[in-house]
Order: sequence, then C-alpha cells, then structure tokens
Amino acid sequence: LITIRQSVREMKSLAVHTVRLEEATQKADEANKAKSEFLASMSHELRTPLNGVIGMTELLAESKLDERQRRFVHTCQSSGKMLLKLISDILDYSKIEAGCMELEQYCFDLRELLDDVVLSMPIRLDDKNIKLTCHLDELLPTRVIGDSHRLRQVLLNLLGNAIKFTDQGEIRLFVHPQRIDDAQVKLLFSVEDTGIGIPADRLGSLFESFSQVDNSISRKYGGTGLGLSISKSIVEKMGGVIGVESQEGVGSRFWFTATFPRCDETSEPNQTTKP
Ligand code: ADP
Repeated sequence: LITIRQSVREMKSLAVHTVRLEEATQKADEANKAKSEFLASMSHELRTPLNGVIGMTELLAESKLDERQRRFVHTCQSSGKMLLKLISDILDYSKIEAGCMELEQYCFDLRELLDDVVLSMPIRLDDKNIKLTCHLDELLPTRVIGDSHRLRQVLLNLLGNAIKFTDQGEIRLFVHPQRIDDAQVKLLFSVEDTGIGIPADRLGSLFESFSQVDNSISRKYGGTGLGLSISKSIVEKMGGVIGVESQEGVGSRFWFTATFPRCDETSEPNQTTKP
C-alpha cells in the first residue's frame, strides 16, 4: 500500500512538472515568434530609407566630381550597400527562424541569370589578382521555373565568399545538369576557389547561423556568418543539398544541387532575372 501511495504521489508530481514544461515551451515559442516578427519589421523599416540613401549616392556619383569627392561618394555607396546586405541577412534569418520564408515559382531565363551574376562580380576583383570564369554545360536548359532572385542570392553569396577569401588565382563557377527529363531538371552548381581554405574541424559547422572560422575581435574579414546558413535554407527549399570540400591553404569548393521544373523554351520568361 505504501509503495502504491508513493507511486501515485510521484505520478502527480510528474504531471504537474509536465504541465509546467508545456506552459514554459508555449511561452518560449511565443517569445521567439515575437522576436522574429520584431526583427522582420525593424529590418523592413531600416531598408526603405537606406535604399533612398544608396539611390541618392548613385545619382551623386554620376555628377561632376573631383577625385577626392568621388572617393567620398564611393565610400558612402559601399558602406550603404554593406549595411543593406547586413539588414537583408537579418531579415532573411528572422523569416527562416519564424518558418515563413517562401520561394516564388515563375519562368525565368537561367543562362541570362548566370551571365548576369558573373558580370556583376568583376567590379569587386579590382584590387585582387583573380580570374573569374564560368563553365556552363551545353545541355543546360535556357528556361526553368523557380525563384531566380533566391538562386541569385545563393550564387552571389558563394562567389562573394570565394572572392573575399581568395587573394590570387582562379574562381570557377560550374553548372551541370545531373538529371534531365521532359518535366524537370536537376542541376549541380559549384564554386571553386584557390583561397585560404577551411580547417577540416570547422567544415561540419560551417552552415550553422553565425558560424565563422575566425571569430576573434581582430579578425581580418568582415561578415556576419549568416550567408551560408541562409543559402542552405534556400537550397533546401529548392529541393537540393549544399556541401563543401576544402583544404587549408589550397582552396575550397562549395556546391549545391537544385531541381527546377522546365518551362516551355518558346514562351517568354514572365519575370526578369535582374534584381
Ligand atoms: P560571412 O562570410 O558573412 O562571415 P558566411 O556564412 O557566408 O558568412 O560564411 C561563414 C564562414 O565560412 C566565413 O566567415 C568563413 O570563415 C568561411 N568561408 C565561407 N566561404 C569560404 C571560402 N570560400 N573560403 C574560405 N572560408 C570560407
């Protein structure tokens, strides 16, 4: 009888703890959702005026300026763009955390997008001795259905990182079809660089949010450590996987797959691939 009473008491206490745990979990979920909503609305409010500032500096850059003024305007422009990237990353991060990042589906010109991404990069190679080349398989379809802006974001992140962490050598973008049928195409994208590489023990955590190989205060390279985790979420939404192979001091190869339904090659793309 004593044992039964003791067990009943233990079960009652367990039930009380379970209820408290459920209440605490619910409160934590609510707080988390409120945090994500706050971050999303703040990021949105910050982006609008910043876009105005960047637009004005672009107009200013086109006017008659002496060398010193041009340098100042250039600094304003690049600082504004860095800030915009940071805010966009925080906005995407909060969307992913809140489980509300959605990809759009429309017909776009894949080759045009890839050309445009590569052409938009060389400006940043000015002070480095790097060659950027693009290798597209001839079987690559021209038009596919998907979210070209999100695909661009992943490619810009991987190419931007390759440039950031490479001082000299070559950066190569490859795009190959892995599987093609009448309905869809599965593509393999890879970005190879001859940069600083990544230590083997850091490769496993690289796609986690805020993960950076060098996170000391005196670190040489800027960034938030959000780009790869955002890219991973986008790639997974595109039905693919993302990975990396790297050797310290030799270089890295970041790759991802994505599946796109095909769209009629004769029909016009219904959305431009430019941002
Ligand atoms: P960020 O570049 O803003 O820090 P990412 O999530 O894009 O954030 O990258 C996370 C980290 O992964 C970088 O800080 C860097 O340490 C490492 N990394 C990413 N790409 C490369 C690369 N191509 N070569 C060397 N290290 C890289």
